Amino acid sequence: MKIHEYQARDLLASYGIPVPAGRMIEKIDDAHTVYKQVTQEAGLSLENGLAVVKAQVHAGGRGKAGFVKLVRSPQEAEDAARFMLSNKMVSVQTGPEGLEVKKLLIAAGVEIAHEYYLAITTDRETRRNTLIASAEGGVEIEKVAAEKPEAILKQPIHPLMGLQPHEARRIAFELGMKGKQVGQAVKIMLALARLFVDKDCSLAEINPLIVTPANESAPDGNVLAIDAKFNFDDNGLSRHKDIQALFDPAEENPQELKAHRFGLSYIKLDGNIGCLVNGAGLAMATMDTIKHHGGEPANFLDVGGSASEEAVTEAFSIILSDQNVNGVLVNIFGGIMDCEVIAKGVVNAARNYKNSDGSTGFKVPLVVRLEGNNSQKGRALLESASDNLPTLQAATDLNDGARKVVAAVG
Ligand code: GDP
Ligand code: MN
Repeated sequence: MKIHEYQARDLLASYGIPVPAGRMIEKIDDAHTVYKQVTQEAGLSLENGLAVVKAQVHAGGRGKAGFVKLVRSPQEAEDAARFMLSNKMVSVQTGPEGLEVKKLLIAAGVEIAHEYYLAITTDRETRRNTLIASAEGGVEIEKVAAEKPEAILKQPIHPLMGLQPHEARRIAFELGMKGKQVGQAVKIMLALARLFVDKDCSLAEINPLIVTPANESAPDGNVLAIDAKFNFDDNGLSRHKDIQALFDPAEENPQELKAHRFGLSYIKLDGNIGCLVNGAGLAMATMDTIKHHGGEPANFLDVGGSASEEAVTEAFSIILSDQNVNGVLVNIFGGIMDCEVIAKGVVNAARNYKNSDGSTGFKVPLVVRLEGNNSQKGRALLESASDNLPTLQAATDLNDGARKVVAAVG
């Protein structure tokens, strides 16, 4: 599960990591008031203090897309808010169709002397959570990782001992931090490492972590987080009601949400062959076999080992609601799963499916492979429903099924 930046900032603050004052808004009209609130909290001018307006979406690359704007008056804050709430954001992470923006963060702006990158994630190779840091943080971090891997520092974290102060200090020095910056950065790294474990994160990222320019009260500047991103392990969420409460359904694919409610694992993909399969391993093998025969799967869909007739019906309606789907492969290896239940679900879905001309039944090519528990009854049921399944082709095995569906969609 992902959360928004404004939520991530609150989480950082609750672990003592300094972040500039900020508030989330959903209405253009609130931009004026909130600009004044955050500049006041930060001790800046309420008329021309620096603030930043930022789109709150679960995708990065906002800066380069024009959806992070520095503003210097209530009016500029309102103009930026109007732009972001009425235009779709297209960034390297959104795809060309872009994302609608429904929430904004207005935060007190800060002067930046230097931008760093700081993150923790699990390194599968060493099987350790690993602190990752770079002195070349900011909006170009992907480029740095690709072209200058030596500029990315790594510190594996001991699974029982956690991140040690001396390890964090070494990273701070290697980043080139000086004087009071070191102690501040160490505190932030240790807090982030604690947060990562406490909340079952799979990614905790601060980019950029910044140092502000030196001034009289802070001769080495101050170290602050001004953007953060978190991913949480879904399997750990039941332990964290506070994190669950941050879930924003508006940021999820509506079909994926619906599938989740019926206990189906569904992930939309870019191809045109819908797949309905029982078991995650079989689903992956099915996708591979479709690709092997030159086709492209439109989705990953695992109905699980004990799907109800209702869930199978729902699964079909989800697959067919995807405009890109022009063929479907059902691949069931019945163990606990009863093939007759699958067949009933397929027939129900076909009977309920309304085509644009008002007729019912499946118009797109449908290839079904049923094997195992009660497969004969299942096949017989499908054959008896040919009125609603005029395109049905039976397959003898997965390879045969994949070949037939690829040929049928052309
Ligand atoms: P992202 O592009 O989605 O990662 O959004 P960020 O929040 O990281 O902002 C992108 C860039 O905008 C940062 O790397 C900074 O250079 C700049 N930026 C963001 N907030 C501030 C701020 O308060 N002051 C200044 N001077 N620049 C900022
Ligand atoms: Mn960022």
